[in-house]
Amino acid sequence: MLSTIIFDKMKYYILFGPPGAGKGTQATAMVEKYNLHHISTGALLRKEIAAGSELGLKAKALIEQGCLVPDEVVEGMIENEFRTVTGVDGFLLDGFPRTLPQAEALDAILARNSDEVTATVSIMIPDAMIMERIKGRALKEGRADDASEDVINNRIATYHSQTEPLIGYYRNAGKYHEIDGTGTIEEVRDRIFSAMDKF
Ligand code: ADP
Repeated sequence: MLSTIIFDKMKYYILFGPPGAGKGTQATAMVEKYNLHHISTGALLRKEIAAGSELGLKAKALIEQGCLVPDEVVEGMIENEFRTVTGVDGFLLDGFPRTLPQAEALDAILARNSDEVTATVSIMIPDAMIMERIKGRALKEGRADDASEDVINNRIATYHSQTEPLIGYYRNAGKYHEIDGTGTIEEVRDRIFSAMDKF
């Protein structure tokens, strides 16, 4: 008799939202509950900077001005994580994709393995709250790109011009799920969990 082995497909979640929306905070709870590997391109870039690598040196100046690093750089980092991480049910992408070309590259990378993005979970907060939250984080984490109001404003502008168009991209694909990011950490987490339980 023929027996069928069904392999569960890997899940690919995108955690979306403006800087300071609480993506990093919520990612910790999400990876634990759904057995995912968290990939934060910002954290990977900061690791390269701390290690003083060639890539880190190039990224440092851009990040400290509130600009994005080139698409190819982050795309390479993402592909490398997909290739090397095993033993999880899926990946949680935090801070990637951040431009339309990155979203298209992600689709192409996944399509090569007959995979696709599972869902985009978007944490939304008003612009006024972005500045307030990042300033609070600056006191705790000491990130160079959180230190100046000009840099934060540039990151917010970069988000609106380059990253926000992704909302339409994933909405058209039927993969966009928006979560209200205001309220306590636990309130936002529970909203995210009840959306994810349905995917
Ligand atoms: P934030 O909390 O501001 O969203 P991140 O830690 O995600 O910060 O990213 C910090 C910085 O790293 C960004 O402002 C940008 O310069 C760079 N970066 C992170 N992810 C990407 C990406 N996908 N494409 C280009 N640059 C990126």
